[in-house]
Amino acid sequence: MSTVSPDAYAELAPMRRDEPLSRWTTLRLGGAAEFFFEPRTPDDLWKLLTRLDEDGVPYRMLGGGANVLAPDGGVPGAVIHTGSMRRIFRDGETGLRAWAGATNQQLVRAAAEHGLSGVEELIGVPGHVGGSLAMNAGSPSWGLWDQVTEVTLWQPGGEVVAKTPDEVQPSYRNGNLRGAIALEVLLHFEASAPAAVRAKQEAYLKRKNESQPVTLASAGCAFRNPDGDSAGRLIDAAGLKGAREGGVVVSEKHANFLVHEGGGTAADARALLARIEAEVQRQFDVALHRELVVWPEP
Ligand SMILES: Cc1cc2nc3c(=O)[nH]c(=O)nc-3n(C[C@H](O)[C@H](O)[C@H](O)COP(=O)(O)OP(=O)(O)OC[C@H]3O[C@@H](n4cnc5c(N)ncnc54)[C@H](O)[C@@H]3O)c2cc1C
Repeated sequence: MSTVSPDAYAELAPMRRDEPLSRWTTLRLGGAAEFFFEPRTPDDLWKLLTRLDEDGVPYRMLGGGANVLAPDGGVPGAVIHTGSMRRIFRDGETGLRAWAGATNQQLVRAAAEHGLSGVEELIGVPGHVGGSLAMNAGSPSWGLWDQVTEVTLWQPGGEVVAKTPDEVQPSYRNGNLRGAIALEVLLHFEASAPAAVRAKQEAYLKRKNESQPVTLASAGCAFRNPDGDSAGRLIDAAGLKGAREGGVVVSEKHANFLVHEGGGTAADARALLARIEAEVQRQFDVALHRELVVWPEP
C-alpha cells in the first residue's frame, strides 16, 4: 500500500488510517488496520476491490466482525468494512434483496414486517449478510444459504457474477466463497403472517439467550461441530469450561464460546484455541476444526 496513495481510492469509499480492529470485532481484540475503507454501495465495493486487486494491495473483508479474531499486530493494507452498505429491498411477493452490509437483525426485522418466513433462526446472530454468507451462519440444521436464490459476487480478477447455491455449493458453516466477495443477495421466503414469523423468531431468541453468553464479548462458536457430535459437548467433557489464557476464557455457559473478559490479546485467544484442540484430540481422538476465522499476525 505504501507505494499507492490512498487518495486514489477516495472517490470510491471513505477511508481512515490506523483504525483499531478491536472496535469492530465482537471479541474486542485486534490491532489497527492500516487502511479501513467503508464503501457505501455494492458498486463502489466492487470497483474498490478491483482497484486494490490491480494495484496489488492486500485486502480483507470485515462485516460485523462477529466471527473474526483480528491479530494483535494489526492488518497491513486494507480492511473493507461493509457497515455503510445496509439496504434491503422487497423483491416480488416472497423475495428480499439485501446488500452485503445489511445486518442480520435488519433482515430478521424486514422478514417479520413483510410476513416472510425463512430466516427466523438468524435472530440474535450478530453480523452482516455478506459475512453470514461467507460463514453460512445459522443453526446446526439451517444456514442462510438455504434461503439464497442468487448471490452477486466479485471475483479476484475483477469479474462480477451472479451465482446460484448449486453453483457455489455451500455447506455447514462454510459459504465456500473461495476468495469471492459477496456484494448483494436475493433471498426467497415462504409467505406467512407477521405475527407468526415474530412468534417463531422469539422462540429461537429465547432458546439462544438461555444457552449462549450473548451479553459478553465473544465471537460465537469457536469450532464447527464434528459429524454427529457437538464441539461444545466435547470441550465441556474435556474439563475445559472456565479454562483461561490471559484475558480470554472458555465460557461457563457454552463451552464452544471463547469470552474476552478484558485486558486480553489475540495471542491469548490463539493459545486457548490451541489448548482446546490439543486436549480434545488427546482425550477423545477428535480433531476440531475452527469456525472462528483467525487472521494471521503480520
Ligand atoms: C453472541 C454471538 C452469537 C453467535 N451466534 C451464532 C449462531 O447462532 N450461528 C452462527 O452461525 N454464528 C453465530 N455467531 C457467529 C457470527 O455471528 C456469524 O458467523 C456471522 O455470520 C458473522 O458475520 P459477520 O458479518 O460478523 O462476519 P465477519 O466476522 O466480519 O467475517 C467472517 C468472515 O467472512 C468474511 N467476509 C465478511 N464480509 C464478506 C463479504 N461481503 N464477502 C465475502 N466474505 C466476507 C470475512 O473476511 C471473514 O472471513 C455468533 C457470534 C456471536 C458474537
